[in-house]
Amino acid sequence: MADITLDDVTKRFGEGGNAVVAVDDVSLDIGDGEFVVFVGPSGSGKSTLMRMVAGLETQSEGDVYIGDTVVNQLGPRARDIAMVFQNYALYPNMTVEENMSFGLKMSTELSKAEIEEQVTSAAEMMGIGDLLDNKPGELSGGQQQRVALGRAIVRDPNVFLMDEPLSNLDAKLRTTMRTEINRLQNDLDVTTLYVTHDQTEAMTMGDRLVVLDHGELQQVGTPLECFYRPANRFVAGFIGSPS
Ligand code: ADP
Ligand code: MG
Repeated sequence: MADITLDDVTKRFGEGGNAVVAVDDVSLDIGDGEFVVFVGPSGSGKSTLMRMVAGLETQSEGDVYIGDTVVNQLGPRARDIAMVFQNYALYPNMTVEENMSFGLKMSTELSKAEIEEQVTSAAEMMGIGDLLDNKPGELSGGQQQRVALGRAIVRDPNVFLMDEPLSNLDAKLRTTMRTEINRLQNDLDVTTLYVTHDQTEAMTMGDRLVVLDHGELQQVGTPLECFYRPANRFVAGFIGSPS
């Protein structure tokens, strides 16, 4: 089970009167296999929330659960989460195959043959099976994005975190990759938290939309609920506004 629960989670940066409350008492249940899209203005706490789920940031208060387990004390590796960020740095001097297998090789339990099989399967799923011997510099932006996604799914994670993964791509490629990510999520049945500032992505990709402002939850609902029945003025103004 990879449902995710945030229980009264707060993150403050800094101390006392100068503290910035990046995430403010957020409680949220995300179902196993659900695709949840997070939106909100710049600085509303989206990335901080992702980083706390990933274990890259420790919350000041509250608990994060993956399944029934409190993961507050677990580092990123132990959480079985794959991440793709906007600046998905690939290793420039490694081939695609090496980029994708690097993380797996660090974990000792898989044999060479097993690693090769997983890399091949993930590469085929992303349509980059014929690029395994290339270096990132020889690839287009879209191909690099596919490598980043392939590298994320190669571990067969239970949870996918994506923080504006498509914002460096041109509009046409974004449309293609939107479909790809939805297909991937469906095929792998992986619980997905997806941050975007793109209104089309927000309205079409997820099962539910989470709207944040100043670190606080403003609304959690299906995209249509948020669109037709905004919970407050902020949501009404934010949904459908040009991004
Ligand atoms: P978003 O991803 O929605 O743009 P962030 O989660 O990056 O928002 O940031 C939320 C707030 O927390 C912002 O006010 C930001 O300046 C602050 N913040 C984020 N990371 C840090 C940090 N490492 N140190 C201090 N403040 C931070
Ligand atoms: Mg961010």
